[in-house]
Amino acid sequence: MILDITQYGNPILRKKCKAVEKVDDALQELVDNMIETMRDAQGIGIAAPQVDVDLQLAVVDVSHDPECISYLRVDGEEAKLEDLMPLVFFNPELEFGKKKELEMEGCLSIQEINAKVQRPSEVKATLHLLDGRTITLETDGLFARAIQHETDHLNGILFTDRVSPASKLSVKRKLKRLVEG
Ligand SMILES: [Zn+2]
Repeated sequence: MILDITQYGNPILRKKCKAVEKVDDALQELVDNMIETMRDAQGIGIAAPQVDVDLQLAVVDVSHDPECISYLRVDGEEAKLEDLMPLVFFNPELEFGKKKELEMEGCLSIQEINAKVQRPSEVKATLHLLDGRTITLETDGLFARAIQHETDHLNGILFTDRVSPASKLSVKRKLKRLVEG
């Protein structure tokens, strides 16, 4: 089922979401709906608060661009991107490399605004999966960026909070217009 995507101004997008405590049929159904909703909207990621659910749960799918990373390790072993997609995870914890990259971002909850965001280019993520596993995932490129963007959502942070000082003012104006309509 395709769900409504919460839009900028909705207070759920500013919440620190609750940890997922158990994986049951309802959660599995929510995940299926989130994946369907993300695909319908042609997104590469979606977080539970974006479908109005207060949980630290997100999906990332960057399989459209297999070249978007230069490495991927799961629990220290080399892994294939396509074997992980779509990646569904909950209660993530991230560690970052020192190097940063400035790239364009957008968000399904903030329509028609794109802006460059500086983020660490490498991430080491501890992720809980639906099958009960907890994995450590290390990667870079668009995959690392998408994991960071979605994890931000679970903490009430939007990409527009992270734009460079140079574009902050114009993004602020556009956001104001979004809310006022
Ligand atoms: Zn987003």
